[in-house]
Amino acid sequence: MQQSLTYAQQCDAEDSLRSFRDQFLFPKDSNGKPLIYLCGNSLGLQPRITQEYLQQELNDWAKHGVEGHTDAEHPWLPYHEFLTESMATIVGAKPSEVVMMNTLTTNLHLMMVSFYRPTETKYKIIVESDAFPSDKYAVESQLKFHGYDPKDGLILWKPRPGEDLCRFEDLEQIMETQGNQVALLMIGSTNYYSGQHYPLKKITELGHKHGCKVGFDLAHGAGNIQPNLHETGADFAVWCSYKYLNSGPGSLGGCFVHEKHANDQTLPRFAGWWGHNKDTRFNMRHEFDPLPGAEGWQLSNPPILSMAAIRASLSVFEDAGFENLRKKSIKLTGFLEFLLEGLNNENINIITPKNPEERGCQLSIQLKNADKKLHTQLTEAGVISDWREPDVIRVAPTPLYNSFEDVWEFVERLKKIV
Ligand SMILES: *Cc1c(COP(=O)(O)O)cnc(C)c1O
Repeated sequence: MQQSLTYAQQCDAEDSLRSFRDQFLFPKDSNGKPLIYLCGNSLGLQPRITQEYLQQELNDWAKHGVEGHTDAEHPWLPYHEFLTESMATIVGAKPSEVVMMNTLTTNLHLMMVSFYRPTETKYKIIVESDAFPSDKYAVESQLKFHGYDPKDGLILWKPRPGEDLCRFEDLEQIMETQGNQVALLMIGSTNYYSGQHYPLKKITELGHKHGCKVGFDLAHGAGNIQPNLHETGADFAVWCSYKYLNSGPGSLGGCFVHEKHANDQTLPRFAGWWGHNKDTRFNMRHEFDPLPGAEGWQLSNPPILSMAAIRASLSVFEDAGFENLRKKSIKLTGFLEFLLEGLNNENINIITPKNPEERGCQLSIQLKNADKKLHTQLTEAGVISDWREPDVIRVAPTPLYNSFEDVWEFVERLKKIV
């Protein structure tokens, strides 16, 4: 690697995925110049084809009214099924294990209804200490719902004093001493703050060895790393589609239920008619007869417009191929790291792990002695990134639409500010 614009441009010229950038709409500054957008970890950009996919559904709604459920170009009744296969590929699951429904936090609650089954002695939940606030609230409220005090029932897997990352050995240690009281491990697969990607399979095996259920939040994993969910053996996972999956603000979430639970009718669940046997769903009078697999956890007939945006986005992923994306991602983030290290600035500290297996595309850059003003200056310099108190900028060069030149430009602009 070289610290030069020419080198960045050469990498772009050699990048077989470079044309995908033109398939996205970039926000612009007041002079009409595209911004350097490194915020796909927060809200992914809009694919150009999304509008077409949405328009199709609006047209079909206008043309068919209620008959669109069966007569639309892409009939609404089975619409969620059109997303399943490519979504399953992205998270490494079997199609029967995946469904798109609701939103992330809702899905997390639904999964805990089924998989957090505390008993008098085995009721605690482990989360990583810097879990995303919504996950922490969800887990705490589940503890309270079952009559436990989160102060006692919630165990945090923390970095050691003076460190930023969680060590697997420390989780093993917690399980050694308290595993017999733990009912559930609920870990964010790729931590939103540090960018650390945890060893999902090892965590699952550890949890199962101690008789616990294991679930992951892939909000920062789906479309970023390859989680190979089926192979990890995890009981469940949830994610959203508006970050790396580019499906629009607040778009639907995803849910994974491992195949081993597909036909378990004894699992308690909160049910709704969309989870009911498709053959008798409209007879309206039957006792609840859950569909096998993840589909059986659906509640409502889903918002087609939101699903159309997901379909559009997944078609772009399919064209690019996830293996190719991951390869480019490793190179792109490696280049960002190389340039940042080349600044030789002792106030800049990357807290994300160095090993590509332990991270996705995001780097979390700690700027010692800086405050939010620095982030404002970066924004004024035409860079969209995000700031987390007290002193961290998260930047996520995504392989679908970011270029090596974007990364170069970002570091140039940061250099001028620090
Ligand atoms: C983005 C994110 C959320 C947001 O949840 P919603 O229910 O989609 O609002 C929750 N958890 C994690 C880990 C996230 O990264």
